[in-house]
Amino acid sequence: MRVFTLCYEPLPQNKPVRGESPWVGFGVVVLGDGIDSEQSTLIANEAMRWMAERRLAPTPDNYGLIYAYKAGTDPELTRAIDILVASHTAFDSKALAALRAHRNRSETDEQVMAEVGERVEAELKNLLKALDTAGRDNSAYGQVLSQASGTLGSGNMGGAEISKVVDKMLDATKHMEARSKMLEDRLQTSSREISDLRERLETVRQESLTDQLTGIANRKAFDNEVEQSVLQAQSSGRPLCLMMCDIDHFKKFNDNWGHQTGDQVLRLVANCLAENVKGRDTAARYGGEEFAVILPDTALDSGVILADRIRSNIESKKLIKKSTGDILGTITVSIGMARWMPGESISEFVRRADACLYAAKRGGRNRVISEAAPMDPTAAA
Ligand code: GH3
Ligand code: MG
Ligand code: MG
Repeated sequence: MRVFTLCYEPLPQNKPVRGESPWVGFGVVVLGDGIDSEQSTLIANEAMRWMAERRLAPTPDNYGLIYAYKAGTDPELTRAIDILVASHTAFDSKALAALRAHRNRSETDEQVMAEVGERVEAELKNLLKALDTAGRDNSAYGQVLSQASGTLGSGNMGGAEISKVVDKMLDATKHMEARSKMLEDRLQTSSREISDLRERLETVRQESLTDQLTGIANRKAFDNEVEQSVLQAQSSGRPLCLMMCDIDHFKKFNDNWGHQTGDQVLRLVANCLAENVKGRDTAARYGGEEFAVILPDTALDSGVILADRIRSNIESKKLIKKSTGDILGTITVSIGMARWMPGESISEFVRRADACLYAAKRGGRNRVISEAAPMDPTAAA
């Protein structure tokens, strides 16, 4: 990753530059790998033009957001901005704050990982130092004991000499005891610190795999799970199905009832999916208003029964806006389902499930369409 800096400063309003944005910009932007400086100049110009068109205040924060949007370095951010544009939502301070919070979250994840890494490293250094000292103390103690044993073993010692050797052994043992106690304390502190770090890592890991809006698995978690499921199906020979589900006419719903009510509907669909799957099944938000369910160990006909239950469950909900009592009617979903074909790539598997989803849309929506693995004589069509 490289850091790229631009400068902006509003040009005097009475001197607009024909055909150009009325200001040049500045802000620190972290370029994704693979963006060269020529490309970044193009992106920067586009970002500035885009902001000027929407009369977005030319602040470094806004510029950082829109640059990332135009560069496509943060797919979730791109999606969020596309939705605002599609639904003609104003880029007011509330919307911008929400977008920035989104950005801050991914930055925070990175910061937490960096901080955890540093703490693990520091802890390791402390431990190694403590163990090194303990090692040296151990060998010194061993020497004292073997010297004592040699002296005592010579047999011709008087009481005073024996007492001197015993005192020396006592001293060394006391010293060793104190050192052992220190090492024990040190190890206890380290083990507390390490389990705290492990918890922190687990929280960050969970957050990074969860969709913020709906609380179910996000796209990244889906990608991981589908990969694992395909590997397992490959080795076990057990069936694996994938369900792709998309809300029907959702754009119209958003247009009629507003984006926030639309968000509630996304939560409702996610809950319905989560309630209907169990065990090793994974319900995920695939993107926007599209969801996916991975069904390991599931034959196509059972998958279709489940999909139809989900479909009719969603259709049966009567939506009412709590704040106003408005009756919003019902929503429906279309579902495509495919069974994994041995040797098939993940992208092809997803593509086939998606093709079924679009067949369901073309067929009139609010329905389930399935496709068995091609040439698979055991699968139900
Ligand atoms: P179709 O039945 O063909 O799927 O029609 P559609 O209107 O659902 O599909 P289209 O792809 O035209 O529009 C999808 C809409 O989903 C556009 C966008 O406003 C909405 N959408 C996507 N993500 C979100 C989100 O996070 N929140 C809200 N409220 N709406 C979203
Ligand atoms: Mg849709
Ligand atoms: Mg869609």
